Amino acid sequence: MSSLSSHDHYRRIASSLTFHSQAFIDGDYTSGGSDVFENVNPATGEILGTVRDCSIQDVDRAVASARAVFKAGTWSRSAPEFRKEVLLKLAALVRENKEELAVLESVDSGKTIKDCLHEIGNEVPTFFQWYAEAIDKVFGKVVPTGETVASFIVKEPAGVVGLVLPWNFPLLMCAWKLAPALASGCSAIVKPAEQTPLTALRLAALATEAGVPPGVLSVLPGLGETTGQAIGRHSDIDIVSFTGSTEVGRHFLKYSSESNLKPIGLEMGGKSPFIILEDADITDNLVESAVNAAFWNGGQNCSANMRQIVHRKLKDEFLHKVIAKTKTMVVGNPLDPDTAIGAMVTQEHFERVRNYIEIGRGEGASLLHGGHSEGHDRGFFINPAVFEGVQGNMRIAQEEIFGPVLGVMEVASFEEALELALDTDYGLHATVFTKSIDKAFRLGRLLPCGTISINGFSEGDVKTPFGGYKRSGSLARDKGLEAMDQYLQTKTLWFSLS
Ligand code: NAP
Ligand code: MG
Repeated sequence: MSSLSSHDHYRRIASSLTFHSQAFIDGDYTSGGSDVFENVNPATGEILGTVRDCSIQDVDRAVASARAVFKAGTWSRSAPEFRKEVLLKLAALVRENKEELAVLESVDSGKTIKDCLHEIGNEVPTFFQWYAEAIDKVFGKVVPTGETVASFIVKEPAGVVGLVLPWNFPLLMCAWKLAPALASGCSAIVKPAEQTPLTALRLAALATEAGVPPGVLSVLPGLGETTGQAIGRHSDIDIVSFTGSTEVGRHFLKYSSESNLKPIGLEMGGKSPFIILEDADITDNLVESAVNAAFWNGGQNCSANMRQIVHRKLKDEFLHKVIAKTKTMVVGNPLDPDTAIGAMVTQEHFERVRNYIEIGRGEGASLLHGGHSEGHDRGFFINPAVFEGVQGNMRIAQEEIFGPVLGVMEVASFEEALELALDTDYGLHATVFTKSIDKAFRLGRLLPCGTISINGFSEGDVKTPFGGYKRSGSLARDKGLEAMDQYLQTKTLWFSLS
């Protein structure tokens, strides 16, 4: 975790920020264009400025520039050492500018400065560095043949890739996709979420300063319906990698089927379980994990473990400790380093989450703590909510809420816990607490989820693939060497020798 400065320090940086509002195409920010949308600071409700809503023509220009440089080979066929050096420089530049980027991210998204600094000071540069380091260490294959043949299996950059991003971890999700895409030699067109375009726009200038050639990276802010759709339907984009809701993921499959059949990598929603088996001890680590799993990033997390499945013998102790811990979490000004939970990203999302809390009460779950906005006279804040008595068929147990809501579901056996955990359309993540290695392994193998963490809430790290089963994703994975597969074609070379 980066060391934190004072609230005043971050306020001062915020007051002197400059915002890029134009698309970044062919190595520079564009000018002109009358279609714009408003960008709001969720902590205050104030308008930060307007940002360009990129049109089909903007997407065409970015694709033409991306294709030209891809064909020229300046990046796509460059020596691995060159791409490595440039991406290492980019990692260093992100580290150098981490405070400015973190404050920019915080005012744009409502995320806490603590999380922004951690993500942007540590994780984002780690991604650029790790994939940079991998570029000259991953080898192709030599095929076993007789002496009259020589055959090689080689990986090649897939071409022009569209990277369509969500708002909950704006620059981190960008790095999850952009680092392996650039390392692979692709030209990338990034579409940040409309709520949070500012850090990706700033990153484009840093990438250029690091030596990424013009055209290799474009950043196109805009609305999903316009810019997102134009990327999804573009016939000269070879691949799209998408992170966002399951609903919009479906749109991308449709765009693909109605255009050039481009492969679509999908990272989507979740409704992940946090399972506490009968033999677990309700330790500080468990309680910290449970609270973190539900409330980290205000619950605006695809892997949020909202469904907390607890053995009935442990339920009262668990609830008592979870509520005590929740009471210590400061909700409010994201630029204050003591804040644990910032603002919901927009007013609309704030109302959606508040509505789910009302739905939960209406369905008969008991709201034991929080779930309201008392103490906040502006901005989109919700004090974290703890429910008990959540049943598997309730909407709050089935639908992704994406807010600070923890729901306790009581069970009487391992089998019942498993049955409840399986009762979901999603399969992104699960956490299991138990002292039994056997039971941990059984759940680890039986749960259809991309990541299962045992005795601690975690998404793994840069080295481990991340993605979902069922309606949480496609076969694509972000993170790890597996992420490179999204951006590489496989080619067989077969030499007939005399
Ligand atoms: P979203 O509404 O699906 O938006 C994701 C991206 O798609 C945004 O850039 C959005 O643009 C664009 N988009 C929206 N409608 C579109 C359309 N009709 N055509 C083309 N593009 C369109 O998701 P979100 O609300 O930003 O993010 C929250 C979701 O992301 C949650 O479901 C969460 O679980 C998921 N998520 C998954 C992972 C993972 O790794 N599995 C990680 C983080 C988040 P606009 O911003 O203009 O709408
Ligand atoms: Mg914003």
